[in-house]
Amino acid sequence: MRLSERRIELRESARRFAAEEVLPAADRLDPERREIPDELIARLAELGFFGIVIPRELGGMGLGVVDYCLVSEELARAWMSVASVIGYTNGSTTLFRGPGREGYLRRMAAGDFLTAFALTEPEAGSDAAGITCQARRDGDGWIVTGRKRWCGYARNADAIVLYARTAPMPESGRHRGISAFLVEKERGAFPAGMSGRPIPKIGYFGITSWELDLDGLRLPVGALLGEEGQAFAVGMEELTIARAQTAARAVGCARGALEDAAAYARARSQFGRPLAEFQAIRFRLADMATRVEAARSLTYTAAEALDAGEPAIAEASMAKLHASETAEWVASEALQILGGNGYTTEHAVERHWRDARLTRIIEGTSEIQRHIIAGRILA
Ligand SMILES: Cc1cc2nc3c(=O)[nH]c(=O)nc-3n(C[C@H](O)[C@H](O)[C@H](O)COP(=O)(O)OP(=O)(O)OC[C@H]3O[C@@H](n4cnc5c(N)ncnc54)[C@H](O)[C@@H]3O)c2cc1C
Repeated sequence: MRLSERRIELRESARRFAAEEVLPAADRLDPERREIPDELIARLAELGFFGIVIPRELGGMGLGVVDYCLVSEELARAWMSVASVIGYTNGSTTLFRGPGREGYLRRMAAGDFLTAFALTEPEAGSDAAGITCQARRDGDGWIVTGRKRWCGYARNADAIVLYARTAPMPESGRHRGISAFLVEKERGAFPAGMSGRPIPKIGYFGITSWELDLDGLRLPVGALLGEEGQAFAVGMEELTIARAQTAARAVGCARGALEDAAAYARARSQFGRPLAEFQAIRFRLADMATRVEAARSLTYTAAEALDAGEPAIAEASMAKLHASETAEWVASEALQILGGNGYTTEHAVERHWRDARLTRIIEGTSEIQRHIIAGRILA
């Protein structure tokens, strides 16, 4: 895809910020398994990255999925978690459509209203329509009961977009009767009726992922987002955009690994020659770069289709599938180029490897993407 001047400028500003501010923070904090610091969140807000797709009249950048992916790739090249944190707001704007919600979008664009996303449950992951968390009407509000798993950024966020059943699960068409709720809360705490346990992970530090217990969580009637019982379709629409962004995040991780490996190959000598002079290393780098470029092309094909208003479901799945599998392979090859040093936390390659591995799982696993793509071919 040829980029316009405006897009090149946007990419350059994100690239500069990522290199100068995100990368040093990632190199320092990821090995200690620490969270993204508040100062970095404040800088993301200042740059407008929480509101890339939010309309200008609401204080956002008023841009599209292509721009969102461009910025995401740059941030993920430094630290994937930082690219993810802007995904919570940019990825949930559809649910805030409609009158009376503009205030939230304004605050999101300003970085004053950070959200988390709670769909997955201990017994419902790939089978998202199988969620059992329940919200029942009680006087002038709702009472929510159940469990959620893997809710990233839940404690640090100002609100959690939570999916729950507002009608019993039907025999068929299980996606019916699922509603979305906005759980507003204090940043850095859980509200009454909700408790959280951090899930111990092997990577994707910077964002703590939580298992949440909802035991009589009370919400006001206005917490319902969109139409009652109709949230699943909106959630899936948002998931398509999230898949394109995950592809961009994967490309970012892969690029980080590739660039680090190329720099290392130039700097490190064995047998009296830089590694970069060995044909085995040169060919490996060439294959890595070619696959990264192919993954990027698929990502922008999906993003452009989404900006053109197409559903782009299969395109986003193809981009996500290919980019995430590419990222894991590229990061693993990069680690090999660093030899023993690649297997230390002294070099960022292992972070890119751990984070790239996750992209095959989040926003629908590779297997689920294959189901979606095959469904389109066979339809
Ligand atoms: C670090 C991390 C962060 C996350 N953040 C969030 C978040 O913020 N909010 C949120 O709601 N969720 C989040 N998730 C959840 C994520 O979306 C799920 O983990 C993912 O959808 C897979 O679900 P599962 O883990 O329950 O695996 P399962 O659905 O149990 O799948 C296990 C395996 O079986 C395969 N499988 C399942 N069904 C089929 C099938 N029909 N055909 C073939 N293979 C199949 C899967 O591909 C996988 O390999 C996060 C997950 C992780 C690991």
